[in-house]
Amino acid sequence: MLLPGMTTHDCEITILYDNTTSGAALAAGRGFSCLVEAHGVNILFDTGADGKLLLYNMKKLGIDPSSPDKIFISHHHADHTGGLEDILAVKSADVYIPSSCPSPGKARKVVRVKEKLKVEGSIFSTGELYGVEQSLILETRKGVVVVAGCSHPGVRNILSAAYERGKLYGLIGGSTILKNSPCLNPCKWSVRLIVQPVFPR
Ligand SMILES: [Zn+2]
Repeated sequence: MLLPGMTTHDCEITILYDNTTSGAALAAGRGFSCLVEAHGVNILFDTGADGKLLLYNMKKLGIDPSSPDKIFISHHHADHTGGLEDILAVKSADVYIPSSCPSPGKARKVVRVKEKLKVEGSIFSTGELYGVEQSLILETRKGVVVVAGCSHPGVRNILSAAYERGKLYGLIGGSTILKNSPCLNPCKWSVRLIVQPVFPR
């Protein structure tokens, strides 16, 4: 489901690419991508499987494809990295990738992520969890919002890493998260109670 821009107190997130779409003007495709706008910086999270589809949806949503200052790649699967070279061909940007990923050719700067680190202001990476995937942590005044790609390390482990930065408010990510919904079963603290919105629904 493609959502319109979602505004929290501190940032706006626009879903650009997903398996399904609620808007006839937008195209659906395998994979996930969203744009995070915060601190005056645009961060593109993942790039879907098809760069042309990503650029098409950006145009339909009125988003300049040269606007991302930073690109955050969750993990090395084609449905999350397929559009990377296309978006870098429009304008180069700093690319944050897990250390297990190969470096993209046209990046302005490549940040190979292993441990948790600050991406910008109150935006952090969980670090490369289980040697496979990183997630984005956004500290908002309502709590921590987590943006995840496929959640291969497990939603519980991702949320545990994010919980170090404060109480959890929301979880956004590709549909794999929902297919893996047993990961949302109550654990040592109740994810169901703490994480209120889960997008897309
Ligand atoms: Zn994956």
